Amino acid sequence: MELCRRDFFKGAAAIGAMSASFGRAFAQSAEKMLVIDCHGHYTTEPKELHEFRRAQIAALKDPTQKPSAPTITDEQLRESVQPQLKFQRERGTGLVLFSPRASGMGHHIGTAETSAEWTAICNELIYRISTLFPDNFIGIGQLPQSPGVPPSNCIAELERCAKTYGFVAVNLNPDPTGGRWGDPPLFDRWWYPLYEKLVELDMPAVVHVSASVNPSMHFTGAYYLAADTGAFMQFITSDLFKDFPSLRMIIPHGGGAVPFHWGRFRGLAQDMKKPPLEELLLKNVFFDTCVYHQPGMELLFKVIPADNILFASEMLGAVRGVDPRTGNYYDDTKRYIDALGLSEGDRRKVFYDNARRVFRLDRNAQFRQRQG
Ligand SMILES: [Zn+2]
Repeated sequence: MELCRRDFFKGAAAIGAMSASFGRAFAQSAEKMLVIDCHGHYTTEPKELHEFRRAQIAALKDPTQKPSAPTITDEQLRESVQPQLKFQRERGTGLVLFSPRASGMGHHIGTAETSAEWTAICNELIYRISTLFPDNFIGIGQLPQSPGVPPSNCIAELERCAKTYGFVAVNLNPDPTGGRWGDPPLFDRWWYPLYEKLVELDMPAVVHVSASVNPSMHFTGAYYLAADTGAFMQFITSDLFKDFPSLRMIIPHGGGAVPFHWGRFRGLAQDMKKPPLEELLLKNVFFDTCVYHQPGMELLFKVIPADNILFASEMLGAVRGVDPRTGNYYDDTKRYIDALGLSEGDRRKVFYDNARRVFRLDRNAQFRQRQG
């Protein structure tokens, strides 16, 4: 662990100077078509992490149960991510942008202090995994959001994610109330200090809710997709990207219902006297490919420009089974894209170039070392 940490910081110190040798390395990697999966969660955590969280929640009512931080060894971490590594090998995906379990963020639970403690532990594990397997995982952080607490409260952890851990994005929960939608929408100035810091760090955010407290909204089947769709509409109705022209947001899960209803969104924007969606949003908003059937993927690529699509699978995430009609895993999304017959240029954008650009991967020491 210590050796890895030293190596990481040695690499981090080199951020900034893009040498000619890196340029050559990138050209070589493009020939090999490194496939970057932008959406993976750590869903195979050691039981000690779950035990800690259970005790932490229990302690909200009974402080005597307050746990100390879990002890998780490097060996446990190595062992725990073997399923992800196996799928990477089998599916030909070379690198995953990896964040804590989304449903586990649980921002609605406890106080801002609860969230801060839990987030710090989860992010550190992601960082350790990224140093243990620098070729396979680059981190995306969780934020210590909490209902009713200004997002500016997350800035210290955001800075730690960027500067100490070398993470390339954070998951931003548009509804830390867990399905009650009690906090202001994403275009409200409530969020602006966080956006200012994201812009300063030149770091994108992935719009991603957590668990649902509302039994009418199944978390991965309804709440996630509704939140993706809702975030997009919040962007349309606001001047967010006028105020933050360089802010980048990724809407996961294929953009929820957005591609399917693109005509509705275009028409609504037109009625509101907004510019065309391409002008209004597409310099700032990107969609991933976590769509689990061929016709859905075809629609995504028909509607959304290739420059705005990032390859992702959410591998070991929402849907883990095998489709009996194809014999393949639903979330083996690379197969659907391979079957589209994209031009070599568009394939390169979706699997590699867009991620490199949107997440500013060239600044990440791990990424550069991987290429070198
Ligand atoms: Zn996710």
